[in-house]
Amino acid sequence: MYFQGTIRKELSFKGIGLHTGRMSNIMLLPAPPDTGIIFIRDKIGKSFNIDQSLKEGRGIKAHISNIIETNNALTIGNENYSVKTIEHFMAAFYSLGVTNLYVVVDEDEMPILDGSSKEIVKKIEKAGVVIQNAICTPVYLPYPLWVEKNGSYLIALPSSSFKVTYTIDFTSKSKAVGTQTAQFVVTREIFKKEIAPARTFGFYEDIEKLKSYNLARGGSVENAIIFTKDGMINKGLRFSDECVRHKILDLIGDMALLGTRVVAHFIAYKSGHTLDIEMVRKIAKSMRRTRHSNKVPPDLIKRKQREFNIFRKKINL
Ligand SMILES: [Zn+2]
Repeated sequence: MYFQGTIRKELSFKGIGLHTGRMSNIMLLPAPPDTGIIFIRDKIGKSFNIDQSLKEGRGIKAHISNIIETNNALTIGNENYSVKTIEHFMAAFYSLGVTNLYVVVDEDEMPILDGSSKEIVKKIEKAGVVIQNAICTPVYLPYPLWVEKNGSYLIALPSSSFKVTYTIDFTSKSKAVGTQTAQFVVTREIFKKEIAPARTFGFYEDIEKLKSYNLARGGSVENAIIFTKDGMINKGLRFSDECVRHKILDLIGDMALLGTRVVAHFIAYKSGHTLDIEMVRKIAKSMRRTRHSNKVPPDLIKRKQREFNIFRKKINL
């Protein structure tokens, strides 16, 4: 059982969007219990009014039902408005126990800041997180779930803690990244110290291609680690395995789109937003299937376990 939470007082951020390259202003406002995380696309100023904005359809709930894009960045939207690159903010909200919040943004992309969740965590902690008098019911898995695509996979195993084991392999792109594996039980303290400071990364050879697709227009060594075939353009790393830690940060941000806490052991191999979100959808589906009874049919558990064992053999795990 967890309590819901929001921030003690409003706070703001400012910075350029990684993909649009445009400056955006953000305002975080406390929200009442059971609100969830609502992004609001509106101008920030004296005339801003939450009720009016929501009435105009400017609110977008951070939930899988509102995802419109998972390539390169996580984007949510409704018929008229969208917000890109929400994952580093979502990971920080999720890990710090902020479950109710209004996020007002005056552009269609969240600022990338230094490419990590470091500043977001710092500001939220400074403002303070207040526990609210409402419960957040976590999801526990009754049986293993998995998704796979072209040799990449993401597994979620029943567990009593939120744990992530992640492996990346970018050997063909850059020897400086190569293969990295990291494992954490993700608590608030571990997130703050070991995961939040890990920056996003990219490859020098991809920059021109991304820019031709109107992506990464705001990207620079100020907000991303840029790797060449055997080295990097930045001066140094914050962790020797910073890349895999950042992928864990992204996974946490993606899982936050479930709208509640998930307690499971995730095993990821070369995953990304698309597979992560496919997993979130799978978890949501299994939640619906078991919501009306506390007891999951033993036959179903046995069948899933059998299917998982076959998958496990296939991937050599
Ligand atoms: Zn990221």
